[in-house]
Amino acid sequence: MRLGHLTIHPVIDGYAVMEPEGIFADVPAAALQEEGLLNVDGLLEFPFGGFLVLGPEERTVLVDLGAGPDPGFFPFTAPRHGLLPGALRAQGVDPADITDVVLSHLHADHIGWATVGGDVYFRHARHHVHAEDWRYYVDGDSHPSIRAHLTPLIDQVNLWEGPETELFPWLNLHAAPGHTPGSAVAILHSGQERLVLVGDLLHTPAELRQPQWHGTSDWDRDEAVFQRRTWRAYCRENDAPLVGPHFPDLRPVRVET
Ligand SMILES: [Zn+2]
Repeated sequence: MRLGHLTIHPVIDGYAVMEPEGIFADVPAAALQEEGLLNVDGLLEFPFGGFLVLGPEERTVLVDLGAGPDPGFFPFTAPRHGLLPGALRAQGVDPADITDVVLSHLHADHIGWATVGGDVYFRHARHHVHAEDWRYYVDGDSHPSIRAHLTPLIDQVNLWEGPETELFPWLNLHAAPGHTPGSAVAILHSGQERLVLVGDLLHTPAELRQPQWHGTSDWDRDEAVFQRRTWRAYCRENDAPLVGPHFPDLRPVRVET
């Protein structure tokens, strides 16, 4: 899609299949069914991946990196995976062309291609991460596999602090702690037009109608609900579409008024 002088392509890395309890805590199956979220086997199916943003001055940005090539690293079963390099190639983009990587948060299904075999995969890119997530997942010792996976990034990481940072005149990052301590929302803008990349504040558009649903993997479930409500209101007030890396086809939606 186009947003003024920006071009945005969804890049899908794979498709996950999992029990509903893996995503939604304490939400009755009937409610999920009513929102059309379950397949014929009563399971959730959803894509994972990121967003390629072609900006001015040859800035080539990737927001979130999918689950990567190693199924042993995945937090779910994914019959189809490892698709991200091909999705970039389809847009004429080589990994060495990526100038900036933005990580919405440091869960495994968003950082997969950060490193491969201990080497940084996007070798020319600065990787922008909120410092709270880096402290929790990399400096801390509670998530050893994530720590090991991201440690090689250390010389290419830009840890940003506080509530907001402007990466470029057309890309701002906002802290939205809840799903993880340092979850970030990215806002792309051109003139009055905006696109809001919400990361995993929402896994499905259905949570715009059901922001109170608790997420199984939310670090602070009440804060996550607060952030969902806050960003739903922001998108409604600004008439801005939003999208997350697990939305169907990674396509933006608008908040129904
Ligand atoms: Zn995720």
